[in-house]
This record gives sequence, structure tokens and C-alpha cells, in this order.
Amino acid sequence: MPRGPQVSDPTTPEYAAGRDAADPLAGLRDRFVGSETSLVYFDGNSLGRPLRATLDRLDAFVRDEWGGRLIRGWDEGWFDLPLTLGDDLARVLLGAAPGQTVIGDSTTVLLYKLIRAGVDAQLAADPGRTEIVIDRDNFPTDRYVVEGVAAERGLTVRWVDVELAGGVTPDLVRAAVGPATGLAVLSQVAYRSSHVADAATITEIVHDAGGLVLWDLCHSAGAVDVALDAWGADLAVGCTYKYLNGGPGSPAYCYVAARHQDRLTQPIQGWMGHADPFAMGPGYRPAPGMRRYVSGTPAVVGMLAMRDMLALVEEAGMAAVRDKARALTTYAVELFDAWLQELGVTLGSPRDPFQRGGHITLHHPAMRAVTAALWDQDVIPDYRDPDGLRVGLSPLSTSFEEVRRGLEAVRDTLVKVGA
Ligand SMILES: *Cc1c(COP(=O)(O)O)cnc(C)c1O
Repeated sequence: MPRGPQVSDPTTPEYAAGRDAADPLAGLRDRFVGSETSLVYFDGNSLGRPLRATLDRLDAFVRDEWGGRLIRGWDEGWFDLPLTLGDDLARVLLGAAPGQTVIGDSTTVLLYKLIRAGVDAQLAADPGRTEIVIDRDNFPTDRYVVEGVAAERGLTVRWVDVELAGGVTPDLVRAAVGPATGLAVLSQVAYRSSHVADAATITEIVHDAGGLVLWDLCHSAGAVDVALDAWGADLAVGCTYKYLNGGPGSPAYCYVAARHQDRLTQPIQGWMGHADPFAMGPGYRPAPGMRRYVSGTPAVVGMLAMRDMLALVEEAGMAAVRDKARALTTYAVELFDAWLQELGVTLGSPRDPFQRGGHITLHHPAMRAVTAALWDQDVIPDYRDPDGLRVGLSPLSTSFEEVRRGLEAVRDTLVKVGA
């Protein structure tokens, strides 16, 4: 920690510089494309910056692998890439043993596949398990897919109301589950408030009621600790273009606990999940294990960039990455206290750093206009209703200096636009 009177004030450039100097991960920021510019990027929780290593990887892939190996590439690794890369991701980020994670499709499509698989298995075992539990503040696509599956299967959605600056808690879940619960669909980190759910306790509560749990990890993996096996999670999904820097539209991942894999049936039964895809025979016969959760040809190019980020997280160590996420959001809250509270801004995220993911949300009636004005100055947060400016602090690509300059710009812009 920096010392001396001139650097104890967190609002000063010297203080931010001192924090960067003391940050063991600071040097890794140079590995990202664009880090040399003065742009402030507060949206790595929506679309992570690319790594410089990815430039070379894409070039080499086109030249050597795709261009050189051509169709042979499928036998030489592409066919198994959803499973092999899924295992890497599970090891580095998800706290999951191998053989339970596969990469492919979008989060939305994987949500559909796993929600359908989960509720169908529950109904087959007990026709009374007719409810899907989900919170009203879950990400829109999660809610919409749940509504769609409920309509398709004649099920009821059991909505859980949560506080704007909070998220799902053990007590709220305990009050919502019971003998009718089929499946609970919950996000570990709330996309708006950044609230981190107590996933281990909540999983146990749902299990005690006889339900299954699907965890959405889109805003978790790469920012907070995830321990799917230790939680006893049943199902999980997540995207790879946020904290995993896979690039726009990079494929998502799903986890199915080993104990469920051969018991559940996912509805998009494609040839790539068949027990013998190249037999091209009549009738679908699902492959054993995780391969049955693959539907069609995997997005090999879309998996290239995230491999570089996985390697970087492994190099840094997820514990250090998660600590930096907490340090960055804590610093942002300190600057909020010093600069923004007196302007009528409220904090839409938990104050306890252990209950926060990698972003915070700041509420003020002028935030929509403030966000637009900030984008014009190359300060890039995002806006979420109601009146929320989201400050996303992707731990490896964000510096303390950037946080200070960005929140200073929020303050100055709010004074101009909002006052
Ligand atoms: C970003 C996000 C998604 C995105 O789904 P896509 O199919 O990739 O568009 C889903 N759920 C949550 C919680 C998210 O944060």
C-alpha cells in the first residue's frame, strides 16, 4: 500500500498510481489490445477486450490449421474441442472435474437445452414437479426462456422478487421452493446489481425441497470464485465473451453434473451429439457423457480467443484475479463516496466486497444522458434501466488509474448534464 500524506486521499492521481504500482497483476494489462490508449473501458463485463496473443492465434489458425490442415482438422482436434476446451475452462474457472463441461451454442440456446432437460427429468420422476423458480431480476434471456419452456410443458413459473441493489438470498429461495419445484434457474452474480448469491447454501435448499438448480455464470466466471462441484450444482451455463474475452458471439458453455448426464435428455438432438456421428445412421442415439449435450458443428473459430484468456487467468491464478476484482470495485465505491454521493447518486450494488461481482451500478435520473456523453469522450460504461450506469471492472484489463479517471469523468459529466 502507498504511504505518506500526499497519497492517502483516494481521489488523487498519485493514490491511483500507487495502487497500480503495488498491484502484482498490473503488468498483465499491457497484454490487451487498446491498453496503450487513454480510453477508459468499463464494459469488460459485457464484451471483454481482445488479447494481443489472439491476433497471432487467429492469423496462425487461418494460415496453418484451417488453411493447411483443411478438413483433416476435424480429426486432429476440432471435433473434440468442445469437450477438451470445456475441461480446461472447468479446471481454471468453474471448480468442476473433467467430463462435465462442454462448449457450444449461445447461452440462450444452452439455457433452453438444459432447462428442458432438467424439467423433463423431474416430471418423469414426479409429475407433481410443475414449477420453475426464477427471480424477477434475472437476465432477460433467462426469464424469457423459462417462460417459453413453461408454456411448452404446461408448467408454472414461480417468480421470486428481489431488491434492486440485491439479489437472490437463501431465505427468498427457501420461501419459493417446495414439493412442486422442478428446477430453479438463478444467476450467481446479478447482472444489474452485481450481488453474489450464496450458491452453496441455495443449492442445498433447492435440493432439500427435491428440486434441481441451474446456475447462470455469465457474470461470474473470471470475476468471482465458482465451485460447481463443491456446491453440488446440477446444471450451469455461461458465456465466454464477457470476462473470458472470447469476442462478440463466442460460444457459451454448459455444465451437467456427472450424476445427471446419462439420465437427462436435451431437446436439440443433433448429429454431433450422436453416439456415432459419422455412421450417419437412422434414429438418434445419444452419446454417453457430455457429448450428448452438443447439437451441431462446433464454432471452432469462435473458441480461439477465449483460449488465450484462459491461459492468462491460469498464469495469474484465479484467486489473484478475484482479489483484484474486489480491490477494483472497492476503489470505485470509495470514489463514489468521495465524489458522487453528494451529487445525488446512489449505489445500486452491495457495499460488502464479498457480496459483489466485478462491477458496480450507480443510479441517478440523468445516467442515460451521462452514459451517452461519456461514450463521446472515450469513457465506456453501459446503461441499464432504471437509471443505472454500470461500471464493469474486468480485473486483468483494468487499472486503478483507469477507475479514477473514469469516475472523475462520471462526476464531471453528471455536473454538466445532470445538474
Ligand atoms: C450476458 C448474459 C446472457 C447472454 O446470453 P446470450 O445468449 O449470449 O445473448 C445470459 N444470461 C446472463 C445472466 C447474462 O449476463
